[in-house]
Amino acid sequence: MVRLIAHLDADCFYVSAERVRHRCLTGLPVGVLGNQGACVIAKSYEMKAAGVKTGEPIWEAVVKCPDGVYIKRDFHWYEAISRRMFEVVKTRSPTIEYYSIDEFFFDAKTLAPLAKNEEDIHIAARELQEEILDKIGVPVSIGISRSRTLAKLASDACKPYGCKVLINDEEIDRYVESLEVTEITGVAERSRRKLALHGITTVGDFRRADRRLIRKLLTVRGEILWWELHGDPIDPIQTKRPMHKAVARGGSVGKSTGDPARLEGWLVRNCERLVEALVRNQYVCGRLQMALSYKQGGGASARCSLGQQIDCSDVLLPAARQLFEQCWDEGIVVSHMHLIADKLAMFKQRQLSLFEKSSAKLDHIKADINGKIGRFAVRSGTTLQLPDIYADETNDYDICDIHGKTCF
Ligand SMILES: [Mg+2]
Repeated sequence: MVRLIAHLDADCFYVSAERVRHRCLTGLPVGVLGNQGACVIAKSYEMKAAGVKTGEPIWEAVVKCPDGVYIKRDFHWYEAISRRMFEVVKTRSPTIEYYSIDEFFFDAKTLAPLAKNEEDIHIAARELQEEILDKIGVPVSIGISRSRTLAKLASDACKPYGCKVLINDEEIDRYVESLEVTEITGVAERSRRKLALHGITTVGDFRRADRRLIRKLLTVRGEILWWELHGDPIDPIQTKRPMHKAVARGGSVGKSTGDPARLEGWLVRNCERLVEALVRNQYVCGRLQMALSYKQGGGASARCSLGQQIDCSDVLLPAARQLFEQCWDEGIVVSHMHLIADKLAMFKQRQLSLFEKSSAKLDHIKADINGKIGRFAVRSGTTLQLPDIYADETNDYDICDIHGKTCF
């Protein structure tokens, strides 16, 4: 039998995870709220039926769904549930990729080593699905096919609590033919527009298109997708996370602000989190970038070379401050701030500079204490400008803090 890849994806995961600890939520319309409690970032099928969309502000959602239960997200809990799911799948298939908090790719052959036909594979996948629901309480959907891209399309299209095995060419043809190109992971709005200019709007069109044209339009990534959609697996299952190209921390600053003290608080918070992420991944970076979005639209970005490969806040923080000055003028109201480190290398392989003056001592003492008594217990006094952010414990942990997943 040909090589088979499975994609497992939890159904409305954040809501399902909340239902694991609050069983009374089962059957109710539930919305999980994001960062500052302003937007719905996940919803149950009951809330979806009321017309609420992901990303919608809470004040619009409550009009459409006044009986909804709205809960603030808690990534500590979601990660705990995610790791439990991972352990169950791993017992069935040791070749497994932790793709995102609620999605795994794994080798479907080890899931059903004695399978003689599609039906046997389907039965094995159903058994795994039932085991996860029984042991953990989370419903998942599973797609199995000849490549990652096809497996993901299969699981997406059979939700909720579905199971789809796509092996035969004719069945693949039929199944993916009329799906929109944006259903393919890796084809977002910009690629959609480029493809549409050549009349390529569905997955069927994409598969029929000339491979060289796809490469011209979407570079080598597009060509990989083209092969994958023809059932040729190019992207392997990655059991270990490959090195990041960049590490970023930041996002919304909550209620948009033009207050210099608050913005300074965000700058230091984002920098402290960035240093934490670099150290945790054992990276050093050679370049830093700041990106601001303004409330009135538009924004600015600036970047600088650090002149050394570094992971210490005594170099990164002054650099971040300089970049901020280039991006911001008094009176400008900021909605988002990102701090991005790139030109990454592993700490162990960094090039030492003769003129290196930085010291990671303070960062290490901080990390030690916080590791023992709680994240952010010791932090820069500048972050006292954000009392509301630190008082709310849902801000202690974010999706980007979940270590080891491959999607970003
Ligand atoms: Mg999911």
